[in-house]
Amino acid sequence: MNRNAPLFDRLALIGTGLIGSSIARAARAQGVVRTIVATARTAATRRRVVDLGLADQVVETNPAAADGADLVIVSIPVGQSGAVAAEIGPHLKQGATVSDVGSVKGAVLRDMAPHIPPGVHFVPAHPVAGTEYSGPDAGFADLFVNRWCILTPPPGAEAAAVERLSAFWRMLGANVETMSAEHHDLVLAITSHLPHLIAYTIVGTAEDLQEVTRSEVLKFSAGGFRDFTRIAASDPTMWRDVFLHNKDAVLELLGRFNEDVAALARAIRWGDGDKLHEFFTRTRAVRRGIVEIGQDSAAPDFGRVHAPLPLAPLPRPYAADSE
Ligand code: NAP
Repeated sequence: MNRNAPLFDRLALIGTGLIGSSIARAARAQGVVRTIVATARTAATRRRVVDLGLADQVVETNPAAADGADLVIVSIPVGQSGAVAAEIGPHLKQGATVSDVGSVKGAVLRDMAPHIPPGVHFVPAHPVAGTEYSGPDAGFADLFVNRWCILTPPPGAEAAAVERLSAFWRMLGANVETMSAEHHDLVLAITSHLPHLIAYTIVGTAEDLQEVTRSEVLKFSAGGFRDFTRIAASDPTMWRDVFLHNKDAVLELLGRFNEDVAALARAIRWGDGDKLHEFFTRTRAVRRGIVEIGQDSAAPDFGRVHAPLPLAPLPRPYAADSE
């Protein structure tokens, strides 16, 4: 028997990729809802959701999923949010809550809110958790454990509805914080969107290099580059939409970033080692802070597990005499 009493009767998941399928798995594991109805854009994904047994019911259209649901979570690329809200708006039940998981919040609020009828609660959300993989097979039940979920309720949102959605995310293991959509977009532009843009750029630049062959880039991909390749493997559709829909904050921070890169380039050109050392000392402290608050592991090499080194005997001149 599940230890939790269901918070919502019927959960509708529109979009069942990495995030939607993780919600399905976690909500079921924790008994947060009584039934789950799911849908996706293509028949292939809907079939996969059936095969994986992620939902009690898989339906063919977004309105069919929204019909009669108590909580609707839209988990699709943010560029689609407005069109999907227009589709489901007329089918939403009075008293239902509509939410999403988009990595951008201002544009989602702007595009979805006009289609949410009076009497339906609209509470956008962003679970700050993910991987570079996509699709229903990529999800897992503890994706949200110890991760933040940021809620960005519009002004005037009913406090009880916000609290209920917070409780939903807490039951999936997340820590919940509430802020304005605008503030969210600025914070995430620096912590997530800009790092992704930089990773895409570095990997693209390496790929373009004429003097270094592709096989050398792969073969000698030491720590720094290798970790950029993981981030740069993230879903192209999702990230295209993130940059197009958080344009202002990303461009503002990119401007600042370019100034800082120029300052470092200048320090390198003029041999200003003190400046470089001081800068790297400051950034090292940021890393320590992230580890201290438990947002990452202190294990060296990013916690990768290595195969044990072969324990071959030392060559003769270095082996102990007694052997
Ligand atoms: P994903 O794995 O690519 O899944 C996207 C899902 O949306 C698929 O099931 C897709 O169906 C469905 N879909 C697309 N357009 C649709 C439409 N018009 N109607 C119904 N379903 C539609 O993507 P994801 O990683 O789960 O990302 C989903 C959202 O979560 C994005 O807004 C993203 O910003 C946000 N997010 C992502 C991460 C991350 O790390 N990935 C983290 C936090 C938040 P088909 O498979 O049939 O195309």
